[in-house]
Amino acid sequence: MKNRNVDKLRNTGKNKSLDSDFRYNTTYISTNNFSYELFPKMRLRRLRKTAAIRELFQEIRLSSRDFVMPIFVQEGINKNLEIESMPGIFRYSPNKILEEIDHILTLGIKGIILFGIPLKKDLNGKNSFNDKGIVQETIKSIKKNFGDKLVIITDVCLCQYTSHGHCGILQGKEIDNDKSLNILSKTALSHAVAGADIVAPSAMMDGQVKSIRNALDRRNFYNVGIIGYSAKLSSNLYTPFRDASHSMPEFGDRKSYQMPFHNTNEALNEIMMDVKEGADIVMIKPALPYLDLIYKTRQTTLLPVCAYSVSGEYSIIKAAALEGWINEDEVVMEFTTCIKRAGADIIISYHTKKIAEILNRS
Ligand SMILES: [Zn+2]
Repeated sequence: MKNRNVDKLRNTGKNKSLDSDFRYNTTYISTNNFSYELFPKMRLRRLRKTAAIRELFQEIRLSSRDFVMPIFVQEGINKNLEIESMPGIFRYSPNKILEEIDHILTLGIKGIILFGIPLKKDLNGKNSFNDKGIVQETIKSIKKNFGDKLVIITDVCLCQYTSHGHCGILQGKEIDNDKSLNILSKTALSHAVAGADIVAPSAMMDGQVKSIRNALDRRNFYNVGIIGYSAKLSSNLYTPFRDASHSMPEFGDRKSYQMPFHNTNEALNEIMMDVKEGADIVMIKPALPYLDLIYKTRQTTLLPVCAYSVSGEYSIIKAAALEGWINEDEVVMEFTTCIKRAGADIIISYHTKKIAEILNRS
């Protein structure tokens, strides 16, 4: 029905912007440009009559292949430690990580994003580009055992590695943007050397994508991709992650580099800058309260859009579920479907394994 009507409208030439509208916003077309039959001839409930009919006409379908599982690996521990503020999520011991990767692959999940927690931190986060660092060693070991079955994305930031917990290099109490670029590029390069498929700079330094692209290309890592954490909003939903990754800033906050959550134009500007700098994928983080930004990003670029559903989004659901106030499985599936409906091509989510289990059951 929709397609026939679109053709009719195309032939009339009444709507010059139809092609672009049709690509991005079928809702607009169907509600504003067509005269459907009205009640009682038209009854929208017909397509909701049975579970089978509803399933046939379901517009958004989740697949475990849409998801990327965040993985924390901690140097110097022998057993996996559950993160208190994120029940069900662990900091993995290096000698247990392969078991977990095997489980993830069995569930049909294709991607992980790795975060390292090093034993030693220092002022300039030198361990972030250590060839024998926790992330680099983990990449090598996963690649050796599982080859290209799994896409390894690495978070590229300094906050887990600096003694002060900020994402860049300090100059007094300020973050020195350009000095930080140098270390971020070295870190990304060391991940590529170890075998990472995609690096994901998350420090929100200006020029980080360009600087990393240049560093990778200089060493012939043309095929290592970059996900820009393009619009990483300064959110209050990161708190459980900081608990997980031991990266709480020692002083101040991250508002001079993460962007204000109040601003739409600024977010889209960040997206466009990352596209121009050579990002292969752009990201909005967090996801659920930022569906408008995901939607607008989808319309701004033809690159894949990634949404990062953050630790706080996970913990809020988990806490309510533990109290018995919500049905966890159903809320997880609903929230995640809405993130995809808004326009996300891939979703980084701490619920990834649960979602895959639910999908595999159905
Ligand atoms: Zn950081």
